[in-house]
Amino acid sequence: MAKRVAIIGAGVSGLTTIKCCLDEGLEPTCFEKSDDIGGLWRFTEKVEQGRASIYRTVITNSSKEMSCFSDFPMPEHFPNFLHNTRFLEYLRLYAKHFNLLKYVQFKTTVNSVRKCQDFSTVGQWEIVRESDGTQKSSIFDAVMVCSGHQIEAYMPLESFPGIEKFKGQYFHSRDYKTPEEFQGKTVVIIGMGNSASDIAVELCQSAKRVCLSTRGGSWVMSRVYDNGYPWDTVFHTRFANLIRYFLPWPLLKWMTEQKMNQWFDHENYGLVPKNRFLMKEPVFNDDLPSRILCGAVVVKPVVKEFTETSAIFEDVTMEECVDVVVFATGYTVSFPFLNESVIKVENNRAALYKHVFPLHLEKSTLAIIGLIQPLGPIMPTSELQARWATRVFKVPKSIDELYGDKIKTRDFIDYLDELSDGSGAKPEIIPLLLKDPQLALTIFFGPCSPFQFRLKGPGKWAGARNAILTQRDHSLVASLLKIFGLFALLAAFFLSFYQH
Ligand code: FAD
Ligand code: NAP
Repeated sequence: MAKRVAIIGAGVSGLTTIKCCLDEGLEPTCFEKSDDIGGLWRFTEKVEQGRASIYRTVITNSSKEMSCFSDFPMPEHFPNFLHNTRFLEYLRLYAKHFNLLKYVQFKTTVNSVRKCQDFSTVGQWEIVRESDGTQKSSIFDAVMVCSGHQIEAYMPLESFPGIEKFKGQYFHSRDYKTPEEFQGKTVVIIGMGNSASDIAVELCQSAKRVCLSTRGGSWVMSRVYDNGYPWDTVFHTRFANLIRYFLPWPLLKWMTEQKMNQWFDHENYGLVPKNRFLMKEPVFNDDLPSRILCGAVVVKPVVKEFTETSAIFEDVTMEECVDVVVFATGYTVSFPFLNESVIKVENNRAALYKHVFPLHLEKSTLAIIGLIQPLGPIMPTSELQARWATRVFKVPKSIDELYGDKIKTRDFIDYLDELSDGSGAKPEIIPLLLKDPQLALTIFFGPCSPFQFRLKGPGKWAGARNAILTQRDHSLVASLLKIFGLFALLAAFFLSFYQH
């Protein structure tokens, strides 16, 4: 009899997880608390409790070439970066094409996931969920948690003395939807992530004044990269990854900084990340530098104190008559339906084997999908996690038995390779060079798109080769020039090293 798998959530991660279960002959049942699919990508005018909430204008910061599922390319006519309504449309097409909706129970909230009594031998779970005020409980052979991690607002009010006296309006970016009501107002935005930057750029067109208060700065990148290509199709190539891997750390740091400052010098804009060498997630915003340059957005350091009507910053400057404060301070990871003995979140991180399986479980029958936020799109990441986990479910082991090796993950591509290695889908470039040189070279020099993980192994897709070869004519000549440039740089580096 097919193993029964409970899936919590029908967003990006949940939908692809349903499909992966079906591909592996498992029997999925997906519980979704809202009345529709899409998770974060389904914009609603009102914030829904327990579901991620976005503003009307959100556009993906990962390109369509890189953000699709590996056996379902985005329609040709879709632009490279998608408005949230377009991305939701893609999810609907995916769900329809693979007939996934019939496995989803909507308006059903999972309240608890508990180990069954004989868990150490059978690895089963008891799922209690609620629908229309009625609770139900069932036993499942495995659980896949796809409940998202941008739901619970992180609002560190204790770090902002005087906020309790502040007479204006303050709220988290999760509650921001549209700019209309802020017309003519003075707004202070706390944070320098993608939410803060998007909201600042949007509000500055109608607000009286917008201050962006950052404690640590950020690298700001354009979605448009070298030669006008979407940034991630150039950044995430196996070739670039290999270079990053072999370059001496000081040289890599120097080159990264040069690249980041190529568009505009972050120093002049007061945006240099405090710990500039820790590659935290960059901000993708094509408009922010020009808004700062025009004075429409004013960059400020961290707020030291709020008074009834003003914000006093660390550099002792003051913004008076503040009407609104937006805390774009990120999110707290939580799993309210899971006991701490199963998964413990500390410093906003959960200890997971390969970012999927909770440590110390006697049986590997519970997987967390989509929790990691790589410097790359979540869609193929969640998909490969689900492909790997569903294969592990077939013969559940303890985590120690599962793999003796340590987590080797360094980068987005390394992580995808590691996961696909576990499910037999990792592309092997050297053997492929002999069999199909054109494909091998495109895989190496071109964007590391999700289709690369459908060329072989279980779940192989006949359309993968064509999808890879037609996605972009990534200039081989440009890549070869880069190789020569790199050797020249390396030679210069070692020469100067030996001279000193
Ligand atoms: P969600 O989309 O959050 O879906 C989780 C689902 O689980 C929801 O439908 C929710 O209702 C349901 N659920 C939760 N708890 C329960 C429960 N107890 N019972 C039943 N159902 C439950 N990533 C990218 O790769 N590219 C991007 O361009 C990008 N842009 C982003 C823009 C914004 C503004 C934000 C906040 C994030 C962005 N991300 C982006 C990251 C984002 O996490 C992913 O794009 C993706 O939406 C995550 O999908 P998910 O399915 O894991 O979670
Ligand atoms: P985030 O990336 O976690 O950024 C939170 C910001 O708040 C950081 O700048 C952080 O500073 C700051 N902060 C946190 N605590 C603070 C404190 N006590 N005092 C001062 N500053 C504080 O959150 P987000 O911007 O909401 O983004 C969440 C996710 O959604 C990210 O993965 C992002 O890429 C994604 N997103 C994407 C888009 C899009 O265009 N597609 C739009 C919005 C969001 P430090 O950096 O110094 O910690």
